[in-house]
Amino acid sequence: MRPENSIEIKLLEKKCWRDGLVTLRFEKPKTFAFEIGQFVRIGLEDANGNYTGRAYSLASLPTDDYIELLVVAVDNGALSPRLVALEEGDSVILESYLFGQILPKRILGGSTLWLLASGTGLAPFISFIRSPFIWESWSLVVLVHSVRHLEDLAYRTQIETLSKELATYEGSLRRLIYVPVVTQEHSDALHERIPQLIDSGLLEEKAGIKLNAEDSRVILCGNPQMVQDVRQLLKTKGFVAPRRGNPGNLLAEALW
Ligand SMILES: Cc1cc2nc3c(=O)[nH]c(=O)nc-3n(C[C@H](O)[C@H](O)[C@H](O)COP(=O)(O)OP(=O)(O)OC[C@H]3O[C@@H](n4cnc5c(N)ncnc54)[C@H](O)[C@@H]3O)c2cc1C
Repeated sequence: MRPENSIEIKLLEKKCWRDGLVTLRFEKPKTFAFEIGQFVRIGLEDANGNYTGRAYSLASLPTDDYIELLVVAVDNGALSPRLVALEEGDSVILESYLFGQILPKRILGGSTLWLLASGTGLAPFISFIRSPFIWESWSLVVLVHSVRHLEDLAYRTQIETLSKELATYEGSLRRLIYVPVVTQEHSDALHERIPQLIDSGLLEEKAGIKLNAEDSRVILCGNPQMVQDVRQLLKTKGFVAPRRGNPGNLLAEALW
């Protein structure tokens, strides 16, 4: 049975990055409001009325008139292959609650915001780099996206375009540094996993910025191993999560 107070929303647009990796744009209900960094729960019923719902990060901005999600089909997954197979005009069920640990307002301060994503952990960061709040809070944003194969680099062109626009906008001190990482295929991108890239100093070298607890704020989103490894590494560099009134400089969300 579908959860109480959930509503149906229609798929307006679908963009396929590669087989099994899509951006889905849904209609946004008039009453639907959220903050960047939050995620929704989306679901489908089967022919017997059994409901399956899962969490998906919001890639759109609160001011957009649509809800955008980046979804990968997990092999034999209960829901994600069905979401990826949706066609424009199909409906899904949007649950009524919103959740989220990685709210940028929780770690204000410093000059540089590091956004470290693996796989579909990129989704919330797509809204961040378009958000006026982010650019009012930090002048420098480093976006690192680690994937297995080149074709998994969703939004690459859009990110590169925004980065160029910011760099060439006269009088703007804002910079978006995009660092793609491709771990299982040789390319012009960095090749090692994010924890190794931090440990060796290669990530700082590539970005041309120091990653330190005084000037940097870090948000992690992606697979649990990456999140755990990076969190441990950053702890040794003095990064801490905000807790009970103590300001922190590190937020993390694992996707499973
Ligand atoms: C806070 C949060 C935000 C999330 N945001 C997104 C998002 O923006 N996009 C997205 O595609 N998924 C996201 N997920 C994962 C999503 O909720 C589902 O777990 C995923 O779609 C698989 O559901 P399923 O029913 O198909 O698989 P299930 O039958 O539930 O199988 C779950 C297994 O699938 C694998 N898995 C789960 N998520 C992923 C993933 N993203 N990439 C690779 N393997 C995965 C893991 O091995 C996990 O144990 C998020 C999860 C959380 C907790």
